[in-house]
Amino acid sequence: MADLRGLPAVDRVLAHAAALVERHGRVATTDAIRAELAEVRAAAPATLPTAEDVAARAAARLETSALSNLRPLFNLTGTVLHTNLGRAVLAEAAIEAATAAMREAVALEFDLETGKRGERDDHLRALLRELTGAEDATLVNNNAAAVLIALNTLGAGREAVVSRGELIEIGGAFRMPDIMARAGVTLVEVGTTNRTHPKDYKAALGSETGLVLKVHTSNYRIQGFTKEVGGAELAGIAHAAGVPLLNDLGSGTLVDLAAYGLAREPTVREAVAEGADLVTFSGDKLLGGPQAGFIVGRRDLIAAINRNPMKRALRVDKLRLAALEATLRLYRDPDRLAARLPTIGLLARPAAEIEAMAHRLVPAIAPLLPEGVTAEVVPCLSQIGSGALPLDTLPSFALRLATPRGRDLEALVSRLRALPRPVIGRVQDGALMLDLRCLTDETGFLANLAGPDGLA
Ligand SMILES: *Cc1c(COP(=O)(O)O)cnc(C)c1O
Repeated sequence: MADLRGLPAVDRVLAHAAALVERHGRVATTDAIRAELAEVRAAAPATLPTAEDVAARAAARLETSALSNLRPLFNLTGTVLHTNLGRAVLAEAAIEAATAAMREAVALEFDLETGKRGERDDHLRALLRELTGAEDATLVNNNAAAVLIALNTLGAGREAVVSRGELIEIGGAFRMPDIMARAGVTLVEVGTTNRTHPKDYKAALGSETGLVLKVHTSNYRIQGFTKEVGGAELAGIAHAAGVPLLNDLGSGTLVDLAAYGLAREPTVREAVAEGADLVTFSGDKLLGGPQAGFIVGRRDLIAAINRNPMKRALRVDKLRLAALEATLRLYRDPDRLAARLPTIGLLARPAAEIEAMAHRLVPAIAPLLPEGVTAEVVPCLSQIGSGALPLDTLPSFALRLATPRGRDLEALVSRLRALPRPVIGRVQDGALMLDLRCLTDETGFLANLAGPDGLA
């Protein structure tokens, strides 16, 4: 073991680290050098590193910590709206609007016509009314918040009647019974898991009822011997008892997805037309915008939500408002929606186009792959994700990367994850599948694999 008193002092290492100080700043560089020296002391190696050695190690440490975990990655999981990967990728128009709102002051709560104080929701109100047919609209941080504040406003201290078939759990601890408790609403479950009848709701309605709740079973389906009370009939039942119907659509969509070759999902406009008094839905699921929760419906109820003190705690900032407004505007021109809105564009992407890209990529990546790793084009099924259309899959094509041994597969997966722009696929049947549905930058993908920090 070497005598640790021979270790170079921080100042001596700093003398070899001028470029690091220039790039990362004196404080971060000094901290990195101290951390490296501490590691050497703890390891007590046989030979001590020189000042240059320590500076080089500090440089590597600083480079790693300068790489943000939020840096862009290639989502080749085959799940288009991947909650863990940030859900919807935004439209260019939304990105430009958010960027402009970040850079300059905007009339967030200022009425440019009268010069008086305005409302931040006003920017979206008219658009949402136009696109959903609802009387009025407001928005909050996400759909979980929309459900929370709507329940609290309509039913605090009272009961909410909901079918046992709709007591959903969405990933990340959103469970309807828990949200109800936090909203101060008493849950009254009716019917059974697979079958709920109009008479079940009617029997539960009484003087304590604050609202009837309908929840879209976004991430599962109950199939077989089932019975559900539709939105229109349920609205009638609620109104006959003098209470409002809240319909949590979850993803919600503003257009008929069948027009883009996807399965039908109830649109927000339909839910409103069925007579729901309030409808809630997400901004970053099928809608394809940033995270947000929309509440549309009756004017008096929207006004009550806006008066709820929770609203201030759940409100949306100018960046997202700007991006949401630009995203919603795209829906005014459904013919060009697939070309302009990445979520719809990716979901509607023809399998033949993906297959052609896969065949172009195989010969290009073959020489870049670690020794023994093979790549072939295979058909696969993409998913929509984020609890939208859970049973629907989209025919797609993947690069199937196979390694000689299972252990090597793990190494390959982590090397792809460590790339300057991480590549995230999914492991299936002993191989790594890279579903190409969401790959739009072929050149960038290859450059990433081939670059100095690539696979080679
Ligand atoms: C996704 C979902 C939510 C939660 O929405 P977030 O936007 O994730 O907050 C609530 N209800 C339903 C039915 C959902 O599908």
